[in-house]
Amino acid sequence: MTGTALTAERRGRELAELSAGTTVDLLVVGLGVTGAGVALDAASRGLTVAALDAHDLAFGTSRWSSKLVHGGLRYLAGGHLGLAYESAVERGILLRTVAPHLITALPSVLPQTPLVSGGRAALARAGFAAGDALRAAAHTPAARLPRSRRISPAEVTRLVPAVRRAGLRGGVLGWDGQLVDDARLVVALARTAAGHGARILTRCRVSELHGGGATVVDTLTGTEHQVRARMVVNATGVWADQLDPGVRLRPSRGTHLVLRPGALGAQVAGLTIGVPGETNRFVFALPQPDGHIYLGLTDEPVDGPVPDVPEPSPAERGFLLDVLATAVDPAPTEDDVVGAFAGLRPLLAGGADRTADLSRRHAVRTSPGGVTTVVGGKLTTYRRMARDAVDAALRAAGRPTGRCLTARLPLVGAAPPEALARVAAPARLVARYGTEAAAVLALAADDPALARPVADGIAVTGAELVWAVQREGALDAGDVLDRRTRIGLVPADRERALPAARAALARAGA
Ligand SMILES: Cc1cc2nc3c(=O)[nH]c(=O)nc-3n(C[C@H](O)[C@H](O)[C@H](O)COP(=O)(O)OP(=O)(O)OC[C@H]3O[C@@H](n4cnc5c(N)ncnc54)[C@H](O)[C@@H]3O)c2cc1C
Repeated sequence: MTGTALTAERRGRELAELSAGTTVDLLVVGLGVTGAGVALDAASRGLTVAALDAHDLAFGTSRWSSKLVHGGLRYLAGGHLGLAYESAVERGILLRTVAPHLITALPSVLPQTPLVSGGRAALARAGFAAGDALRAAAHTPAARLPRSRRISPAEVTRLVPAVRRAGLRGGVLGWDGQLVDDARLVVALARTAAGHGARILTRCRVSELHGGGATVVDTLTGTEHQVRARMVVNATGVWADQLDPGVRLRPSRGTHLVLRPGALGAQVAGLTIGVPGETNRFVFALPQPDGHIYLGLTDEPVDGPVPDVPEPSPAERGFLLDVLATAVDPAPTEDDVVGAFAGLRPLLAGGADRTADLSRRHAVRTSPGGVTTVVGGKLTTYRRMARDAVDAALRAAGRPTGRCLTARLPLVGAAPPEALARVAAPARLVARYGTEAAAVLALAADDPALARPVADGIAVTGAELVWAVQREGALDAGDVLDRRTRIGLVPADRERALPAARAALARAGA
């Protein structure tokens, strides 16, 4: 097993090896959650792997999610039992084995305000009960993810103090998985794959893809390289049709607002609000470990060219604040919004009129030229998507598929909760780095300044920025601030942390 550290030096060496003519068993394009999952799946089956991204780890949709590892309640409501069961099973595997360090159980409240009719409340309770049954069927212990239950008005306001009290009849409390951060899951996947020998190369844009490899531009130097591979997987998400014209996508934008800590009082649970006038659409206010609240989510069809970084529209901002105002008092205003982000769902084109009705199922297809594309799905089911893609690529190459091992493969830093509790580091670090938290902390042994937060009101320490460069493949300040840490989600914080990011890069000679 090679080391799990990703560095600029390793990137340069491995790109030179590929350019010199090394043929890998499998080339995967895209280092979002799906491509990183494919790299780990293939490398852990013993294949030689190269995984490329035009920008950085988690540059695309995978960093713009709601950060939930969810049991697919929405799919149940839509009658897609198979999809919901798949989600529940994958959630259980991630929680128990693959990434227990990055996922916690998030309580969420659906308050029964005067706007929620008796019928709708009964429907919601039935949905939560079905979700409990799926959790049990997926063998996820209630100790990790408790059962849902009805709660009193007093309990609703204890969990979410801002909920409107007039006419409040109580609520339903349910639980789901919440990632400390989606980009950290991708980084952990990529490093674990690297530990199994995968070459993980960022800043490598694929300009042409075929069954025997790819033409690749190193965007740091502008140099073009040919990469040879026996099998090729396209995992470029919402950009997948650019490398495989046989794929038809209908992207949909989902926007979240970032509310300042305390905008909903001392909120300890997520808040779920039905969108007035719609039956199966909700807005969520999700408290984050750093105190911010993510308020989402919209579903807007997107036509035309796919941007590198999608922008929330003013209408989406207004919609989210308006729906929130139906359930809380005092209602947050634009003054409470400290950031906003949007992502594009890589939905497969289908017959539905509204993108909200398009299936969240994933698809795997191998083109006549031998490129296997994996697209659609969601963060929660990345492991299943990766398995299906690697199986399909092996079958298309006429090779035995062998066994997928990832259900039993903990990512770097993963350990059972009892072991995590014994790691000698602050809880905040353990939640982000798992068993590696002590090594992050140790960076500050020779330089105590690294143990301090990078700026007032930002919990991230200098040691985390240095770790990002020395171990997690961060090549510039954007990698450090926008993907290894998520300081960049609040632009004013990003500005204040920029000098510290530059100092971390300079320290590593980057
Ligand atoms: C707003 C929103 C909220 C969501 N919330 C959740 C949630 O809470 N839970 C959940 O389970 N799912 C959620 N999802 C779904 C989930 O985020 C996506 O399904 C998933 O992240 C897609 O990952 P991906 O790896 O397929 O694509 P991406 O993350 O987009 O990765 C594709 C990568 O390909 C690279 N690339 C593109 N073209 C090239 C090229 N030519 N050469 C090299 N590299 C290239 C890009 O740089 C990018 O990094 C959400 C989606 C959205 C939009």
